Amino acid sequence: MQANNHYDVIILGAGPAGMTAGIYAVRAGLRVLMLEKGAPGGQMVNTYEVENYTGYEKIQGPELSLKMFEHTQKMGVTYEYGDVQRVHVEGNEKVVTTDQGTYHAPALIVATGTKTRKLDVPGESELAGRGISWCAICDGAFYRGQAVAVVGGGNSALEESLYLTGLVEKVYLIHRRQGFRADEVVIEQVKKNPKIELVLDTVVERFVEEEGKLAGLVLQHLPTKETTLLRVPGAFLYVGQVPETQALQGLVELDDLGYVRAKEDCSTSIPGIFAAGDVRVKELRQIVTATSDGAIAAQNAAKYLKTIVG
Ligand code: NAP
Repeated sequence: MQANNHYDVIILGAGPAGMTAGIYAVRAGLRVLMLEKGAPGGQMVNTYEVENYTGYEKIQGPELSLKMFEHTQKMGVTYEYGDVQRVHVEGNEKVVTTDQGTYHAPALIVATGTKTRKLDVPGESELAGRGISWCAICDGAFYRGQAVAVVGGGNSALEESLYLTGLVEKVYLIHRRQGFRADEVVIEQVKKNPKIELVLDTVVERFVEEEGKLAGLVLQHLPTKETTLLRVPGAFLYVGQVPETQALQGLVELDDLGYVRAKEDCSTSIPGIFAAGDVRVKELRQIVTATSDGAIAAQNAAKYLKTIVG
């Protein structure tokens, strides 16, 4: 640890954006601290297979996370656990307070990504971890040979449905409309998979509990308003993401959904604070666009540091 917890740049988050920023910042000669509250890798850790990161036709998400993390450690990025509570600015200094301590640096790269959006229907929070999961790779094996529900119509819901078919007998894929927003190649694989039954134009009204565990989902078919009970012991929810920007509220400029507004050079409304990866307002949220942001943010953080030392 640096004296007085002082670094040149602090990176919040160790997903692909944060880890790439760390590598580039060390190569620019900076003393770098990377703070993370979960496992290094971010969303990649909970992804079974990645098939669109250049150079890897197919790699498991946890393996790619580990490779990136080992790379940061070989380069000399200081890594610490910490749940960020507050970020504030004192002159040129950016001060980060976590549940573990307080850290200072003139430059800050926010790469905190997103967290899963909740459906907000009765039973969801009560049955979390008791049949309701947000991670097929972690919990899919509990339902080997049984039927499960997956909710959502994006890349995550469809890709994780495909992953689950390797474990379970049947996947009911529940989506609120007819069209999916996943990549076309993934949609085709889902439609061809005999273990996946599409339940479209349908929403979850509530989750049903029996003996302290999930027993099923009450579904509503939107065009007919008809409700049915789907009895399954497991449900995997993939209804999108919300940005992890609570600690930045009132500091940097955010959009209406809470994503950080950053320019092409990853700079934000506060000089010396940069944003990289999924946490930014952006069109395409992918590992490759996150790593790209990480490199750009680190390079511009290094440039910024030169401007303040004169
Ligand atoms: P997403 O693309 O935002 O999809 C969320 C899905 O949940 C949408 O289909 C949405 O329906 C549905 N939804 C949202 N709120 C709902 C509600 N209250 N009730 C029912 N359904 C609801 O989220 P994601 O799949 O988690 O992906 C997040 C980002 O990561 C995306 O940019 C995605 O492309 C990217 N990603 C990429 C890959 C890959 O390239 N391999 C893998 C995973 C994720 P509507 O469609 O009707 O809005």
